[in-house]
Amino acid sequence: MSAQTPKYKRILLKLSGEALMGDDAYGINRATINRIVGEVKEVVDLGVQVAVVIGGGNIFRGVAPAAEGMDRATADYMGMLATVMNALALQDAMKHIGLVSRVQSALNIEQVAEPYIRGKAIRYLEEGRVVIFGAGTGNPFFTTDTAAALRGLEMSADIVIKATKVDGIYTDDPKTNPDAMRYTTVSFDEAIGKNLKVMDATALTLCRDQNLPISVFSIFKQGALKRVVMGEDEGTKVLA
Ligand code: UDP
Repeated sequence: MSAQTPKYKRILLKLSGEALMGDDAYGINRATINRIVGEVKEVVDLGVQVAVVIGGGNIFRGVAPAAEGMDRATADYMGMLATVMNALALQDAMKHIGLVSRVQSALNIEQVAEPYIRGKAIRYLEEGRVVIFGAGTGNPFFTTDTAAALRGLEMSADIVIKATKVDGIYTDDPKTNPDAMRYTTVSFDEAIGKNLKVMDATALTLCRDQNLPISVFSIFKQGALKRVVMGEDEGTKVLA
């Protein structure tokens, strides 16, 4: 294998909405989103097929006070709509750097995005297009982490790669404890048992039961996504 052969052929990248905020309090930071799509392009240029599940925390957090006391399912639908806004912003940013993508939504809003159709999404990936999944799973009471696990399985992705603010999973909070150590790998059972903040329990259990590995890396660390995809020691892997 040459040094430039990626370890994974097809990845499911989970980006939280908050990853798009940069240092802003809410919303989408232009420079940040441009940098993120640049990192995505680097792995696409390696020949890796990339599907993205995008969160909505950056927008939904802004409306959360208004949603207080609201019916949970209604608030969740608002959250899902927020992810669609992020999906469109991502697609637009990708277009600006010559990255062709398709947005598929789990909620039907056909004027805005095509509906989620598994076979079509796989075909896009095979054609080298980035597929951005909006509206999570389409169901309230779930998260976009679970959507990432679900779509990762449906796409037969080799791995779910979750972008976070920290460059992996640590024994303790590295911001407050200088002795905190980064795990290179952890087992699913350890991650679930120790309540390590990888993904929510529903997403983790789904990945464990279907044996879909997860990698956690920092979206703020330049080149980290490429390093994960190349199989280098970056972040933390959750494996069987
Ligand atoms: N959501 C939902 N079902 C899903 C995915 C998301 O109801 O399948 C809602 C939920 O209210 C969630 C919001 O959308 O809080 C935004 O998603 P998430 O919190 O996962 O986004 P992130 O934290 O990754 O930005």
